[in-house]
Amino acid sequence: MVSIAMSLAELLENIRRAEQEFQRTPNSVMCLAVSKTHTIKAIESLYEQGQRHFGENYVQEAVDKISHCDKKDLIWHFIGHIQSNKTALIAQHFDWVQSLDREKIAQRLSEQRSADKPPLQVCIQVNISTEAQKSGVMLDEVEPLMKLIDKLPNLQLRGLMALPLLKPDFAQQRQLFAEFYQFYQHVQRNTAIELDTLSMGMSQDYRAAIAAGSTMIRIGTALFGPRASSAVIK
Ligand SMILES: *Cc1c(COP(=O)(O)O)cnc(C)c1O
Repeated sequence: MVSIAMSLAELLENIRRAEQEFQRTPNSVMCLAVSKTHTIKAIESLYEQGQRHFGENYVQEAVDKISHCDKKDLIWHFIGHIQSNKTALIAQHFDWVQSLDREKIAQRLSEQRSADKPPLQVCIQVNISTEAQKSGVMLDEVEPLMKLIDKLPNLQLRGLMALPLLKPDFAQQRQLFAEFYQFYQHVQRNTAIELDTLSMGMSQDYRAAIAAGSTMIRIGTALFGPRASSAVIK
């Protein structure tokens, strides 16, 4: 378990060091701060240190925070499970959605995204664990969903996201992420749709994800400390 949070500067330093160690392009990995259950104050403190991208999992909690937050240039990512009765709120309040996992949701988000906003930036969540998981599309469903999203006017497809169960050691984490990286390359060749975002890696496995080609790591615990079991807003 990661129990002690580090500073943003320390985390960014670790990311830069991993980029170097694994021959990645400098600054090619960005950090999403996963702020679910954490306060606006905690979010604003990271903002003051330069962090702009924040991820939230629960629609109502996130909408409350977004409405109360004074900083207007934060970039909000929805990364939680999407219920179809929540798509309007998500389309209205978020900049990115990383957890898109079915056609109907893609269609609703595009219809509900107001045309005077920039398109919603989206990633398809892919189920890459062999263990039974409830979220994410299976590998063979990814290309059809990519082609559908590519045609929707108010969505811009950016990439793929994965949320695998934590593997016990670095080598196994890296192997699983490397397979997903291969898949990410493969679907781009097959569909001729270009992607620029491979969202994989969290507090406990981000170095392995960077080694394997991640472009966005999603970090909660390592930045904010452990989460309370229920959401706190203010
Ligand atoms: C909560 C969450 C994270 C952050 O997990 P940590 O282990 O706290 O870094 C990342 N991605 C998703 C989709 C999450 O739900």
